[in-house]
Amino acid sequence: MAQTNQQESVWTVDSSPSLQSVTLANLRKLPQIENFSEEQIFEMEVVGNVLPFKANNYVIEQLIDWDNVPGDSMFNLTFPQKNMLKTEHYDMMASVLKNDPDRKQIQEMANKIRLELNPHPAGQMELNVPMLKDGTKLFGMQHKYKETTLFFPSQGQTCHAYCSFCFRWPQFVGMDEMKFAMKEGDDLAQYVREHPEISDILFTGGDPMIMKASLFATYIDKILDANLPNLKTIRIGTKALSYWPYKFTSDSDSEETLETFRRIKSKGIHVALMGHFNHLTELKTDSVKLAIEKVRETGVQIRTQSPLLTNINDDADMWAQMWQKQVELGCIPYYMFVVRDTGAQHYFGVSLVKAHEIFQQAIQKVSGLARTVRGPSMSATPGKVQVDGVAEINGTKVIVLRMLQGRNPEWVNRPFFAKYDENAIWLDDLKPAFEDKFFFEDELKQIKEQKMKNMNS
Ligand SMILES: *Cc1c(COP(=O)(O)O)cnc(C)c1O
Ligand code: SF4
Repeated sequence: MAQTNQQESVWTVDSSPSLQSVTLANLRKLPQIENFSEEQIFEMEVVGNVLPFKANNYVIEQLIDWDNVPGDSMFNLTFPQKNMLKTEHYDMMASVLKNDPDRKQIQEMANKIRLELNPHPAGQMELNVPMLKDGTKLFGMQHKYKETTLFFPSQGQTCHAYCSFCFRWPQFVGMDEMKFAMKEGDDLAQYVREHPEISDILFTGGDPMIMKASLFATYIDKILDANLPNLKTIRIGTKALSYWPYKFTSDSDSEETLETFRRIKSKGIHVALMGHFNHLTELKTDSVKLAIEKVRETGVQIRTQSPLLTNINDDADMWAQMWQKQVELGCIPYYMFVVRDTGAQHYFGVSLVKAHEIFQQAIQKVSGLARTVRGPSMSATPGKVQVDGVAEINGTKVIVLRMLQGRNPEWVNRPFFAKYDENAIWLDDLKPAFEDKFFFEDELKQIKEQKMKNMNS
């Protein structure tokens, strides 16, 4: 086994604190909210019973600026706020909670409201579930773009803390973990073998880095042992660098995690850690800096991404500083997303025109090394659509768009135009500028019909 040269780091982290989660069950015991009024706490409980809420001691002690609460970006990112629910939904849950409900009543109301929040946007369920040649449907995977298949390991469907903009059903896994990992890992390897066009496997979730290193290694070894010639890259989508950096520095399994990264690299497979960072604050602690350094020492590349969010990061200067800081720490800025059409989009949403303005202002402030970032990009049903800007063509004001990823590879990098609309926040709000349909619409309809047939067969 190759020994890495252990250099002294300038960042010091003595040891991992033990992870303490804060959820609705223990929220009232949190010393930091001691001075909150009963009304404020009740508001958090109403919203937290519908949208996901979980924070932890690292987020609470090191990222949130409690002198700046409410209003602090990290607080808004992790703690529920009244306005995240529309008034009617808020009132529905509030009235249940005021009547001494049991768990079932809360759950029923929560699910009722959630169903009205578009829980499965962009046709993920119906359109992206792949199948093995023998007909087995792989519900733990999605395959939308030719080169990359998404993999959702069952035990990675939770996170160290939850982002308030992320809409997630409450999920529990009560199965035999290792056995399940073996089976899922086998199916994944078989699927990639059957599809030579796949070069990338993207582990996602939840957060796959919530898994114990030994469990993560079980999946990885299944893939490595399968010797898949077409597999070039394993990507790992994670927010652990911002929500629990100790995962890579000082947890009891951090060395095993890093060792697993090295093992992938030693097979000639590239590893990209897709680090989810929403705010500059997340890059400021010694722990995150050391975690980034440790991950990079294994030869793993870190690419960064985040959605643009009102009340959290809708500020061009902050984005510019965040990208610059990422480059300084050796990370590669990758995507700025437009927040999805789900959950609390009315609270976080930024219009496409404004999103582009923020993106452009930010990118003008950084050097070329940070201009690897693309966006603002919508992960919509036909593909990833980037807003390139606003232009005037023969006297008509238009929004210029471009497909960065397409359900059909031939759509990729095609520019197209929508009527100017400064209120539009998602692709569905836009109308074609010059035709009656966008170029992909007919074909997308065909693809949908075909997939539905396959799913039901
Ligand atoms: C973003 C995304 C990918 C990866 O796309 P890249 O542009 O290669 O990063 C793969 N699958 C889905 C469903 C995605 O949304
Ligand atoms: S870390 Fe990712 S999956 Fe987890 S809550 Fe945040 S956005 Fe959602």
